[in-house]
This record gives sequence, C-alpha cells and structure tokens, in this order.
Amino acid sequence: MKIHNNISLKAYNTFGIESIATQFVEIDSIDALKEVLKYIEDHHLNYYILGGGSNTLFSQNFDGIVIHLQIKGITIIKENSNAVLLKVCAGENWHELVMWSLAQGYTGLENLALIPGNVGSSPIQNIGAYGVEVKDVIDCVEVMEVTTQSIQKIMHSECQFGYRDSIFKKSKRKYIVTAVSFNLKKNQSQVNTTYGAIQSVLIQKGIVQPTALDIANTVIQIRQSKLPDPKVLGNSGSFFKNPVISKTLFSKLQSLFPEIPHYPAPDDQVKLAAGWLIEQAGFKGKRFGEVGVHEQQALVLVNYGNAQGTEVVALAQKIQQTVLTQFGVTLEMEVNIV
Ligand SMILES: Cc1cc2nc3c(=O)[nH]c(=O)nc-3n(C[C@H](O)[C@H](O)[C@H](O)COP(=O)(O)OP(=O)(O)OC[C@H]3O[C@@H](n4cnc5c(N)ncnc54)[C@H](O)[C@@H]3O)c2cc1C
Repeated sequence: MKIHNNISLKAYNTFGIESIATQFVEIDSIDALKEVLKYIEDHHLNYYILGGGSNTLFSQNFDGIVIHLQIKGITIIKENSNAVLLKVCAGENWHELVMWSLAQGYTGLENLALIPGNVGSSPIQNIGAYGVEVKDVIDCVEVMEVTTQSIQKIMHSECQFGYRDSIFKKSKRKYIVTAVSFNLKKNQSQVNTTYGAIQSVLIQKGIVQPTALDIANTVIQIRQSKLPDPKVLGNSGSFFKNPVISKTLFSKLQSLFPEIPHYPAPDDQVKLAAGWLIEQAGFKGKRFGEVGVHEQQALVLVNYGNAQGTEVVALAQKIQQTVLTQFGVTLEMEVNIV
C-alpha cells in the first residue's frame, strides 16, 4: 500500500475541479482495503471512496485520505443456455463492462451504455437511463463493512433500491462496495425500447428487430448528441434529481403551467422534469464566469475550464432557490458534494 501526499484530484473527477487531497491511495485488493481501513482507524483519518469521480464535486481541498478503488476482475458464477450470473469487481469501468458483456452475447446492460464511472458506484445511486435502472439486473452486492472489515453479501431485496437511491447511499459510511453480481440474459431479441428517443432513432436507422447491441449503439448515439463529453467540458451529468411531488402541489402547478412535463411516481405522487423547471427559471445555456448551465441540457452544470468547486455549488444553490421561489418545488442535488 503506497500512500501519496498532497495529490491533485483534478484528473480524478469529471467536473475537472482542482482540489488537493492530503493523502491518496490506489487500492487493488480486499487485503489492501483492509490495510488502509486499519490505517485510517489508527490515525483517526477522514476518508473518501472514489471510483471514476463522475458523481463527485470537490468543493474544497480534501483533508483526509482518498481511496481510489481499483479492484478488478470479472467472474462467471453460474451459467446456462438462457442466462449468466456475473460477479464484477468494483474497480471495473462501467461502460467497458457494458460493451464486454454484449460482446459475450449477454444482454441486460445495453440501455445503460456510456454512463461514466465504475461498477462499484453503480448500485450506490442505482444508476438509470433510457427506461432501465441497474437494480433491474443486480442479483447482490458484495461489501466490506467498514467497522468490522468483514465481507458481506447484500441481496437485491435488502438493497432498498429506489430512484437514484439505495441502502449504500443512505448509510454511506457503513459499507464499501467491493463487487456487484449481475443476472444477465442471453436472449438478443428481448430488449427494452420503451424510451421514446430510442424508438425514434431505431426508426430513422430502419432497424425493425433491434439486438441488444443495436440498443447500446442507439443509446450511445443519443447520449453523444445530447450530453457534453466531460473530457471536453467538465460536468457530472445530471446535477439534480427529478423532483417527486404530491398530487395536490402538482394540480396547482398544472393549472398555472398546463404544459408542465410529468410522470407517474410511486405512492400516488408525481415526478417532474428538473431540466424543464431549470429552463423555465431562465438558467438554460447561461454562463456565470467559469461555470454555467449546459445549452442543450439544463440539468447539467458545466465547468468552462477553471471553475472552483465553490462556484459550482453557488450556482446550484442559486438554481435551487429560484426554482423553489418560482414553483414551490425543492430540487435535490444528485451529485455528491465533498
Ligand atoms: C456525462 C455524464 C453522464 C451521466 N449520466 C448518468 C445517467 O444517465 N444515469 C445515472 O444514473 N448517472 C449518470 N451520471 C452520473 C455517474 O456517472 C454515476 O452516478 C456513476 O455511477 C458514478 O460512478 P463513479 O465511479 O464515477 O462515482 P464517484 O463519483 O467516484 O462516486 C460516487 C459516490 O459513490 C461513492 N462510491 C464510489 N465507489 C464506491 C464503492 N465502491 N463503495 C462505496 N461507495 C462508493 C463515492 O464515495 C461517492 O459518494 C452521469 C455522469 C456524467 C459525467
């Protein structure tokens, strides 16, 4: 275990924000993870688990140790002619896993193509896109419990998955995800095309019976046309969650804004599009010094090059305040502010 001192985190977060960590360590095995947790305990240190840094905003320098989790490996646990159960270690890259699984003829991950980040982070906020959430294919999540440093298996039913939520997000300091097991199919024709934009692109391409790879390529095409590439313009995808509100508040809003986009949500509630609210509040495409709101996607805050974390947080808070005043709706940040 090699601990580095005073390391810049700029290359380790997709927002491209400069932040100095007092200590930084790459961890590539369970034993090394145990060792670093012991070191943290002995030295009473603060720590942060970092995957691909695509859902993290460093708002200041980090006084503590950043654990860059790089445990790699993919194992087939079980397989028959219809399905496969894969165990994938936390440090594998998510998009590479999606494309690798498709190359093997395994289906189920295709709608989640091109989401940045690592496998270990995927259950934390139950990543989702284009009609699918990762919970739909997760069998179980292997974790190290921080206090006991024991490895435990959390079954799907115990993960408390919700919209951008899970037990791992609710109790952040309790578990470190070390591996995730996925139930994938081998049926190429059983694909999810419920999301409107996927259907439109498939029609444009003249694809009538899409394979899982067609879906992944379509999702990649849509994402590349809509979302800024973090390598070009720093960002962390959707900055806010889509708010879920009561039917009473929704009826009031709909009478004032009949065109307001809305979707059914559990418990007789209504989900609104945060991007629409931000656009109506006048922020879409606006630049404020080194930070701004993306011109095509109002949910995405961007770093024009030299933004500081505090500037991004200030803009996010300004957006929250304006949307609250204008619509009475609270926007919750999806990004983890450190
Ligand atoms: C351009 C772009 C598009 C995106 N599109 C989507 C999208 O469509 N859908 C979606 O859901 N998300 C999307 N995201 C957000 C992001 O990609 C996901 O949240 C992703 O899962 C984050 O992975 P990461 O490894 O980069 O996480 P990090 O930012 O490294 O970590 C995120 C959080 O998880 C914790 N964490 C990381 N690894 C572990 C671990 N092994 N154990 C315990 N805690 C851990 C961290 O401490 C932090 O709190 C997008 C981001 C970008 C930049």
